[in-house]
Amino acid sequence: MKVLKFGGTSVGSAQNIKKVIDILKQESQTSTLVCVVSAVGGVTDKLLEAGALAKAKNKAYLTVFNDIKTKHFDIIKTLAPNSKTIIAEVETKFEDLEQLLNGIYLINELSPKTSDKLVSFGELLSSFIIAKTMEDLNLNTILKNSQELIVTDSNFTKAEVNYNITNKNITDYFNKANQQITILPGFVSKSQDGDITTLGRGGSDFTAAIIAAALKVERLEIWTDVSGMYTTNPKLVKQAYPIANLSYQEAMELSHFGAKVLYPPTVQPVLDLKIPIHIKNTMQPEAVGTTISNQNNGTNLTVKGISHINDVALLTLEGSGMVGIPGFSKRLFETLANEKVNIIFITQASSEHSICFGIDQDNASKAETAINTAFEYEISLNKINPIIIEKDLSIIALIGDNMKSHQGISGKLFSTLGKNNINVRAIAQGASEKNISAVINEADVSKALNSLHERFFEVNTKQLNVFITGIGNVGEKLIDQIQQQHAFLKKNLKLEVKIVGMANSRKMIFDPNGIDLNNWAAQFHHADPSSIDGFYNKVIELNLRNSIFVDVTANSDVAAVYENYLKQSVAVVACNKIACSDKYSNYKNLQDLSLKYNAPFLYETNVGAGLPIINTLNNLVASGDKVISIQAVLSGSLNFVFNNFSDKKNFHDTVKQAQFEGYTEPDPRIDLSGIDVARKILILARENGLAMEIEDIVNDPFLTKANLESDSVDDFYETLVNDEAHFQKLYASAKANNCQLKYVAEYKNGKAKVGLQEVPVGHPFYNLEGKDNIVMFYTQRYPEQPLIVKGAGAGADVTASGLFADIIRIGNK
Ligand code: ADP
Ligand code: ASP
Ligand code: MG
Repeated sequence: MKVLKFGGTSVGSAQNIKKVIDILKQESQTSTLVCVVSAVGGVTDKLLEAGALAKAKNKAYLTVFNDIKTKHFDIIKTLAPNSKTIIAEVETKFEDLEQLLNGIYLINELSPKTSDKLVSFGELLSSFIIAKTMEDLNLNTILKNSQELIVTDSNFTKAEVNYNITNKNITDYFNKANQQITILPGFVSKSQDGDITTLGRGGSDFTAAIIAAALKVERLEIWTDVSGMYTTNPKLVKQAYPIANLSYQEAMELSHFGAKVLYPPTVQPVLDLKIPIHIKNTMQPEAVGTTISNQNNGTNLTVKGISHINDVALLTLEGSGMVGIPGFSKRLFETLANEKVNIIFITQASSEHSICFGIDQDNASKAETAINTAFEYEISLNKINPIIIEKDLSIIALIGDNMKSHQGISGKLFSTLGKNNINVRAIAQGASEKNISAVINEADVSKALNSLHERFFEVNTKQLNVFITGIGNVGEKLIDQIQQQHAFLKKNLKLEVKIVGMANSRKMIFDPNGIDLNNWAAQFHHADPSSIDGFYNKVIELNLRNSIFVDVTANSDVAAVYENYLKQSVAVVACNKIACSDKYSNYKNLQDLSLKYNAPFLYETNVGAGLPIINTLNNLVASGDKVISIQAVLSGSLNFVFNNFSDKKNFHDTVKQAQFEGYTEPDPRIDLSGIDVARKILILARENGLAMEIEDIVNDPFLTKANLESDSVDDFYETLVNDEAHFQKLYASAKANNCQLKYVAEYKNGKAKVGLQEVPVGHPFYNLEGKDNIVMFYTQRYPEQPLIVKGAGAGADVTASGLFADIIRIGNK
């Protein structure tokens, strides 16, 4: 004999009920079946809603009543359109229900006792419709009202079962019953006085367990809408997966801490009898599901699941008067017990100076009044402070029988939460170490579950959630590269890179599941207007783990927001050099925030586009080498200009071409005045540990006064034409000296300068081609032959790949 229970969704439509009937037909070939059913999905909630409306004298209860009625008749229309008995009987039941609701409306009252009567309609209706349909199909079926079997006390809405009477009723009945399939309503029961009671929300699971235990059956099956008990709530964590095997204790802990798939008391009746519980999916009967038993579960996972409870309030009682007073906790907990307030979580500091516990938020004010009254005397003497209440919290719990024999689990828990800027308000770990729980803000639950799930169950993959601002040449290339490398990164580096947000100065789009990169441009076309703050707010609101903000602009307002991102533990990757070349105090502040909030701040592309220059310097410094000097050509644009400019090609046209090819900043004066190079050598000096300012960089310009003082870019180009002779002179001098013109940046002994130089034949800079950059590091370990980094130092592709490399570095951290 087997007991099967089908939940609300499983009996939520005619189509699903047909699936249930198929399963029962199949299973009844090998065993007699006891089948417990829930109310049609959502009906219990609706009955309570109608009751609450009626009690509030709101006529809208009738609309809700009609919804419930339509829902049932829709099912009957498909399932048993011709059955007069079913239709007539269901009509009668709805008349009774309407009368009950009218009564509530008239007297303006809904006691727990009436409430139980009201919700019992849900299961009574569903079990009737299913059983009668099966009878009509000539299946060997009978309907039995579980209220005639399960007897409880009169604690309405969550009654306690009297097992002596109940077990006898069940065995007596089933000893005589001879049908192959018995259908019973779950959840409902009766008190010894004959009143209708219920077993608590979700209680149909419990009904099934009570019957399974009384009959000592070989197996209890809980059929629901997911394929088992998952590693965590599958509605919140996409990567969650069903756990094949759990011990009874693990299942109990998971369900007590919020895994709704199993009603917590369900395990108790079957535990001692070692009846295994199988959780199965009605929509996918072939899926393995979860087995809960005493058997060695065969997996060596230490953490088996993560669950959470929302709507928790944390209450803290503290005061010097608590120390060393015996019986203090007893008084506290008695007070709560008298008020029927259930405690979910307790921690007490070993100083005994304070005690902190978590309860359902709805009970918070009741508990507050009761405790403040109970300790009124101590509070009046200032020995204890009035109770402190914090709301909108959640408890998350790691669960697993084997956690006790493994070190470092709480370390991993807290470091993962910390890295994601999730504040832990309280912690508890039972001595049995089957459960480590932490209290966090409810707003952080999804991020916490996703990051913990990744840490404990997806050791192999890490998801990076990328937000890009600046969708120009470089931004587009970055998107292309991320799309192209997606599969490679997943396979080889176990990184899942998702672009969750994109913005330019006009528009922005977001998709928490990752923007579809096959048609992002089309989506972008219809996007919302963007703003720097709006983008930031959305990143914070989405609150995703491993968030990375990527700045592909050259905008100082965007750079000003890095600080806020870092403070929220969002990593920042930038090719925008403004932040790092701004005042030293600003640069330093960002470095400090990055350390404090454990949020990487990477800007390799600030110098030499994709070339590994900053990284190389950081590695030299970190490994204890000392930089003696740096000599570099750091401007791809200036190198391009001086490689192309000659006595045959005038300076104006050469600069125009450089701009056209995308090698200069939008305003070419930033390159030609040397400012851009000065910023780059400044950043290198700072990375080498120097507190330098841009004014400290000696900049000897090669432009004329007229060029430098031009009012606009157009004006500037005009001055270039006028001053052609000046540039030709520079060219002629270099040529006469058998030299090449190169714009060089130098750093030595804590000083730095930039300027145009005539570089002689044989010098490593002499043959530097196109838009290449070169950096020579002379250090203690490289005193004569410098460490040289050389290659293309400008261009959208290489800059994008530099940004991409920074993103991947964050992923590998
Ligand atoms: P039923 O109506 O079949 O009793 P419930 O809604 O009570 O179903 O329970 C199933 C639901 O429990 C799932 O749809 C899922 O949203 C939720 N759930 C929460 N945590 C878990 C978990 N760890 N594993 C599986 N389901 C979970
Ligand atoms: N119908 C009841 C509820 O929704 C019992 C159950 O479905 O388990 O709580
Ligand atoms: Mg349920």
